[in-house]
Amino acid sequence: MPVALVLFDIDGTLLRRTGPHHRLALIEAIRRVTGLETTTDHIPLHGMLDPDIISRMLRQAGAPQRLIREAMPAITREAEAIYERTCPDLRRKTCPGVRRLLRTLESRGAAMGLVTGNLTRIGWKKLERAGLRHYFRLGAFGEMRRNRAGLVRLALAEARRLGLWQRGRPVSLIGDAPADVEAARVNRIRAVAVATGITPKEELAALQPDLLFDDLRQMSAEELLR
Ligand SMILES: [Mg+2]
Repeated sequence: MPVALVLFDIDGTLLRRTGPHHRLALIEAIRRVTGLETTTDHIPLHGMLDPDIISRMLRQAGAPQRLIREAMPAITREAEAIYERTCPDLRRKTCPGVRRLLRTLESRGAAMGLVTGNLTRIGWKKLERAGLRHYFRLGAFGEMRRNRAGLVRLALAEARRLGLWQRGRPVSLIGDAPADVEAARVNRIRAVAVATGITPKEELAALQPDLLFDDLRQMSAEELLR
């Protein structure tokens, strides 16, 4: 069994400045499935799950709740397909320190997983195009649970099922948004916050994560293994 489990958020944590392609895939998917013109303006995308973002976009465009519920599965499938076709090369979009940390964790025998609001195929595509996919053994994605705490719970259950983790072993969640720190807290796992997203370091500090860094160059893998 791996010596530790380390769960990572994607946007603002592993990758940043990945372009408008994700946002545009959601807009285009909604257009194709419902005919509605929508926007992500006025939606605080940061830390949100993709299905919640889609719901907000549709609500802002005046869609009734019933339409949102019924169209959601088709919209998410379409958004994933569009993103898979349009995702750019992301090899130069990793946050500082990410590659070195992943390499070190892997060589020390840790298992890595994803906990992200991205839809499944969008999240995996980003990692593939960033050249990071092979580091990750499991993932909990935006459409799988209603909130981030539920995604962390799901990732832990999956890690246990795969024999990658058991209670008592070190487990951390690394993320750049207040929602990541809170989701780790709810699940009583180590909360590691990194200020490479849009949340200022002071705002993350106020949530009192177990560890807090400007970026992952400051993080030593050892801290995650004990
Ligand atoms: Mg994030």
